[in-house]
Amino acid sequence: MRIALIAHDKKKDDIIDFVRRYEDVFTQHELFATGTTGRLISEIVGLKVHRFLSGPLGGDQQIGSKIAEGNMDLVIFLRDPLTAQPHEPDVTALLRLCDVHCIPVATNLGSAEVMIKALRNRE
Ligand code: PGA
Repeated sequence: MRIALIAHDKKKDDIIDFVRRYEDVFTQHELFATGTTGRLISEIVGLKVHRFLSGPLGGDQQIGSKIAEGNMDLVIFLRDPLTAQPHEPDVTALLRLCDVHCIPVATNLGSAEVMIKALRNRE
């Protein structure tokens, strides 16, 4: 599966921990990420990640275009609900495209965990 990973700044540690914890699952899939999230995952966890631009510079929209083209299967987007984001419209647009195209999207660790366990059980 083609999996997109995005984490707002205060959720970066969470996404690193999460990817580490489920590294066995993530290694079986093709990973995509916004710029900083992708860099951290590849540097710290050592997984291969296709990187887009940083989220505030258009990375969320690039992932959105993949979804619109039918080229993304699952999105894990750890949002920070307590901090205003300069690119909030892009965040909303990305979540909207997930709904338009019925792409599973997890916006917090709880739902991400359910998704990844489901993927692991499928394998
Ligand atoms: P980043 O983007 O991975 O480049 O930090 C995430 C975001 O804020 O959308």
